[in-house]
Amino acid sequence: MPELPEVEVLARHLRPLIHGKTICAVNVRRAKVLRPTPPRTFRRTLPGATFTGLSRRGKYLLFQLRAKANRKPITLLGHLGMTGRIFLAQKGRPLPKHTAVALDLGASKLVYEDTRYFGRLTLDTSAVTRLGPEPLDDEFKAETFAQSLKRSRQAIKVKLLDQGLVAGIGNIYASEALFRARISPELAANKLTVAQVRRLRLAIRAVLAEAIECGSTVPSNPGGHKSDGLFYFGRAPGAPDFYEERLRVYGREEQPCPNCRHPIKRITQAARGTFYCPRCQRA
Ligand SMILES: [Zn+2]
Repeated sequence: MPELPEVEVLARHLRPLIHGKTICAVNVRRAKVLRPTPPRTFRRTLPGATFTGLSRRGKYLLFQLRAKANRKPITLLGHLGMTGRIFLAQKGRPLPKHTAVALDLGASKLVYEDTRYFGRLTLDTSAVTRLGPEPLDDEFKAETFAQSLKRSRQAIKVKLLDQGLVAGIGNIYASEALFRARISPELAANKLTVAQVRRLRLAIRAVLAEAIECGSTVPSNPGGHKSDGLFYFGRAPGAPDFYEERLRVYGREEQPCPNCRHPIKRITQAARGTFYCPRCQRA
């Protein structure tokens, strides 16, 4: 499931490719991903609009467009859900089986594909207003982070998945950040010491920044379906596993801890897997 780094890498990749491109036609195959925008509104709003920018907020993509005839700017919100992919396909190529939406850009198409249709491509941007600070921005401050944690008795691993606390962290980077900060995933959020909160904030920033840097170096070929280099779960199928090597605990149950060689343990928290070292992450 794509988290902040994967979405950031995708945004950086797509931004120059779609800039200045105008949508000629809209093909909606799965109206579910547009919700709550009615398909009729989607089809009426987008043709003639030109892409002017692409940014990321948390795990969301925000496509900025200029409507034809100088109408007000449009924002199109994308979320990849569990299995979504957004890529440019050349004109004339058959669309993938699970294409939910295809935006015709003339010589190419912007394709949103999702085998499970949990993602979104919608004109409703309200989800973004509920997000906490961007972890890599200056607005992610230790004091406000500490205050938010003080109000929660949830296990810290579970609390980190709350997008209102800090935006963009999912199951993989929550485990990775707690390992780096040497904090037990089961510790209640309101029990973290000041020093632990500081360490955790820095660890979150470090794991996300490293993942973006690493993902940016992965060869990407997003039109090429399964072989694309966008590194979901740390690695594209069939790609060299140098990215996966960077994940220190996630997906490494029973493998030796990179610090102390004790076997990595997997537990279930809020129905999601958590990976950690019971020796390094005692407190
Ligand atoms: Zn260890």
